Amino acid sequence: MKCDLHVHSCLSPCADLTMVPNEIVKRSPEILSICDHNSGENVQSFLKVFEKNSKILIPGIEIQSVEDIHILGYFDNVEKLMKVSKIIYEHLPKIPYDPEKFGYQLKVDESDQFTSLEIAPLGFPTDLNIENVVEIILKHSGIPAYAHINRKFGILYQLGIFPDLDVHIAEVTSEDEYHIAKKKNLIPISSSDAHYLNQIGEMYSIIEDEVKNAKEFLSFLINGKVKTIWDF
Ligand SMILES: [Zn+2]
Ligand SMILES: [Zn+2]
Repeated sequence: MKCDLHVHSCLSPCADLTMVPNEIVKRSPEILSICDHNSGENVQSFLKVFEKNSKILIPGIEIQSVEDIHILGYFDNVEKLMKVSKIIYEHLPKIPYDPEKFGYQLKVDESDQFTSLEIAPLGFPTDLNIENVVEIILKHSGIPAYAHINRKFGILYQLGIFPDLDVHIAEVTSEDEYHIAKKKNLIPISSSDAHYLNQIGEMYSIIEDEVKNAKEFLSFLINGKVKTIWDF
């Protein structure tokens, strides 16, 4: 089974407005995770559409720390994700949001109808440091992962090192990064970080076991059963 564990919806200010549930599910591999910037608000609508299409959705979020590092969090249900999402909102800057300047952030329902405009500045860093971010994810039984380690906002790109944190998964985008992660005993995964429909599944990971739901998938993930193309 193929999985793409990092896809943005129309709620992310930098993502295309066509990133709505029924368009994404059409192009999705068997397993996909929606990881919007600092918010889980659109995931419930995606969950309904993925269930209807017999595909597995992993509730996710991409949190930006005060050091400008992106950390992904994966959850086995949407309730846990939403608890984390609410905490993250409290740590966003209190600034007026100008959609024309920063990009539109749209909440969407399961029929792809836009329901409201999000006014929290989701594209800004929280005031949480990476330790805090990882702690919040773990406290809600989530799995933290370093996003795009060696690109802008990646842990290695920003810090030059992997700090000593309880994070065991690293998103890699090249064979070099795959080997860097391996050397640090991190489990490499590879995802598209799609912001446009045509990017979905451009990069993906593979799971050879049959998976029934998000909970089962995440237990495989943490046990290193999710592979990248460089594992074969
Ligand atoms: Zn990112
Ligand atoms: Zn992203």
